[in-house]
Amino acid sequence: MSRINPEKFDWERIEKALQVESEYGYKNIQGKLYRFSEFLCLTFGDTPPVTNLLVAFRWQETAKKFARYSHLTILEREDLINQTLNLIGEVKEMIVNKPYYHPVAEEVKSLAVAEVKPPSNTSVAPVTLKLDDPVTLLKAISLRQGELLKKLQIVTIRDLLFYYPRDHIDYGRQVNIKDLVAGETVTIVGKIKKCDCFSSPKNKKLTIFSLIIIDRTGEVKISRFFAGNFYSNRGWQEKMKRQFPRNAIVAASGLVKQNKYGITLENPEFEVLNSQGGNINSLKIGRLLPVYPLTDGIPADVIRNGVMEAMVALPQISDPLPVILKQQYGLMELQEAIARIHYPEDQDQLSHARRRLIFDEFFYLQLGFLQRRQEQKESRIAVSFTPNGRLIEEFNQILPFSLTNAQKRVIEEIIKDLQSPSPMNRLVQGDVGAGKTIVAVFAILTALQSGYQGALMAPTEVLAEQHYRKIVGWFNLLHLPVELLTGSTKTAKRRQIHGQLESGELPLLIGTHALIQDPVQFRNLGLVVIDEQHRFGVQQRAKLLSKGRSPHVLSMTATPIPRTLALTLHGDLDVSQIDELPPGRQPIQTTVLTGKQRPQAYELIKREVAQGRQAYVIFPLIEESEKLDVKAAIAEYEKFSEKIFPNFNVGLLHGRMSSADKDKALNAFRDNETQIIVSTTVIEVGVDVPNATVMLIENAERFGLSQLHQLRGRVGRGSHKSFCLLVTSSKTPDSIQRLNVLEQSQDGFFISEMDLRLRGPGEVLGSRQSGLPDFALASLVEDQEVLVLAREAAEKILLQDKYMQGENSLKDELQRRYQKLIGNEILT
Ligand code: ADP
Ligand code: MG
Repeated sequence: MSRINPEKFDWERIEKALQVESEYGYKNIQGKLYRFSEFLCLTFGDTPPVTNLLVAFRWQETAKKFARYSHLTILEREDLINQTLNLIGEVKEMIVNKPYYHPVAEEVKSLAVAEVKPPSNTSVAPVTLKLDDPVTLLKAISLRQGELLKKLQIVTIRDLLFYYPRDHIDYGRQVNIKDLVAGETVTIVGKIKKCDCFSSPKNKKLTIFSLIIIDRTGEVKISRFFAGNFYSNRGWQEKMKRQFPRNAIVAASGLVKQNKYGITLENPEFEVLNSQGGNINSLKIGRLLPVYPLTDGIPADVIRNGVMEAMVALPQISDPLPVILKQQYGLMELQEAIARIHYPEDQDQLSHARRRLIFDEFFYLQLGFLQRRQEQKESRIAVSFTPNGRLIEEFNQILPFSLTNAQKRVIEEIIKDLQSPSPMNRLVQGDVGAGKTIVAVFAILTALQSGYQGALMAPTEVLAEQHYRKIVGWFNLLHLPVELLTGSTKTAKRRQIHGQLESGELPLLIGTHALIQDPVQFRNLGLVVIDEQHRFGVQQRAKLLSKGRSPHVLSMTATPIPRTLALTLHGDLDVSQIDELPPGRQPIQTTVLTGKQRPQAYELIKREVAQGRQAYVIFPLIEESEKLDVKAAIAEYEKFSEKIFPNFNVGLLHGRMSSADKDKALNAFRDNETQIIVSTTVIEVGVDVPNATVMLIENAERFGLSQLHQLRGRVGRGSHKSFCLLVTSSKTPDSIQRLNVLEQSQDGFFISEMDLRLRGPGEVLGSRQSGLPDFALASLVEDQEVLVLAREAAEKILLQDKYMQGENSLKDELQRRYQKLIGNEILT
């Protein structure tokens, strides 16, 4: 793309063509060589011979419109031609007044003598700023401002262009003066009836500039205030008055305000026009004006002007996205999308631009995930296990129930992975009680019967113990040893376990974080199972894997997350869903209660316990004040055991108790020695007492929906009808609405989807270890549809060209973007 040399530019021919086209009724007339629109496209070029950025920008916009000329209606064509004639008039005037000179080009030369060679044929020096040039090469941005922009991570021109506005102010609505309504941002165009500019009599440092503007429908007085000595200067004030002479046409934009003097515009922007309907050259008037998140010392206009200048001065921004994808998904060109996200002509264009840029954010993330998955599969060699063997056969025979179809399907998927020499990295999602443990056992036995060891890691002692208890029963029948290792395992036992692991005598170790502590050495670890995987950090997971040579990995979670979140967090994993509960489960009747209705809850508990059932009473625990909450739990426990249910045995469970005491409390509950257990959320995951039928949760509004669903899953595990009572003192409609979701649904996926919509991804995942990529525009709630398309597109790319050999620019862009998004949250 080159800049047009104004001396060689054939103004007359263009003007002639425009005139002729208008005389012939805008029919896109055919000339000797070209149609009218083709001729205009060719002669207009992309970059005009002028220095005024906005004019340059409008020039580009106009050129683009001629490319679509044949699609325009006659009226639109007429408009376009009039605008173009105006524009040419303006540009000619600028050139006559000022010989061709390009300050941007000068700036490049003077600032970067060392690196940038001045172009050799200087008569039409094209300004070739590059995306990776520092922003300070732009005229709009000084070196000092460049320093400040670093705080916003803006260093290069690319950074600046990808620094998207957080919003736009719509100055585009042009209204009549009589129709001004407070609260709207609008533009009015009218004649200047009176102009004043003077220092405030009360405060000499304040200068008041005011215009009375009239149009066919009325008149309005609009003022603007300037503070500082600079403006108190008579000369400046007189100059302002000369710029806004009586009867000149002026456009004014701003927020309409009603004050005691009547209606006016607040913080207005003014611009005098050449004629009624003349073009407006202000960045602000009549447009959607971008608004940026800013840092101290950077006026908004610096970024606005910088972006505008960069767009005019940059050569084509290359678009790495294959054309076919753009066509298929109806995506705007990258260059255009960037221009439009900053300076859209209307809301529609803005949303198209957003869609393209959001697509990119998702697309490169997914491409990165998929590529990483592929690399992992190819770079590491795992052991391939034999699918059939003695252990699996025997286990099938001792199974106390038949597997659900979902369990069968997922087991098949896992065993297929385990037969392959590329390491498995699979996540099993399944609602509470869907029966994940047994699925994991199938995987473990597959490893064991091939002569390898397995490890199962759970996030809490309670959970690890429960897995152990269940698995040890089955393993005894199969004559297989299994051990439990947690923080409270005694030293002697610990030593014994370490020894047996190293010798290979011990085929399976179940435990907590203790599993990854250093002295633990396996002889030949072939499979790692991580339960509630989201509760572990990346490092912890990685450490467990390092205990073997490329072990297969099976992760499990009972906190199903919506597909969009799953794709964003674990796009590099294979995901299996156990989307079916074992037969005979009854829905848990769930009710939201106010504090006043609490006695109803106690009645229900009494009735159930009288019939031999058991109940949980849960108090929320906030980690920062764990001590306090423990105190509260103890106080509640006393209240329950002494006042409310003096006739029943009440137990207590909280995180500050020693493991032995926790065990005791849980065992007592399991054995029905205590009928009611007052607990903090330590009970949350996995605890399995089928005789419990009531779950009462206090301050339910403090929990996320998925967590409540988890807690609720502690009941409804036996054959009796079960109840969940959510007590809340909150009266905000939001939290009541949220809790109502649980009354209506028992489906963990649906619940987490609703939680996502109502609270947003950060809250749903828990901000602490959410690991969510930092998207600039994309929202995991609003833009789900685009995410799914982007995933599909990324899959297509790799399917066609596994190593993206024909796509160098795509690879470069991937590298730039993926690393930035994913940071160091990489699970190796
Ligand atoms: P979760 O998916 O929450 O980890 P568990 O694996 O703890 O679920 O299983 C919950 C309960 O359901 C356990 O008591 C388990 O033995 C039982 N269970 C698992 N699969 C089935 C099945 N196919 N039929 C009947 N009961 C099952
Ligand atoms: Mg489980």
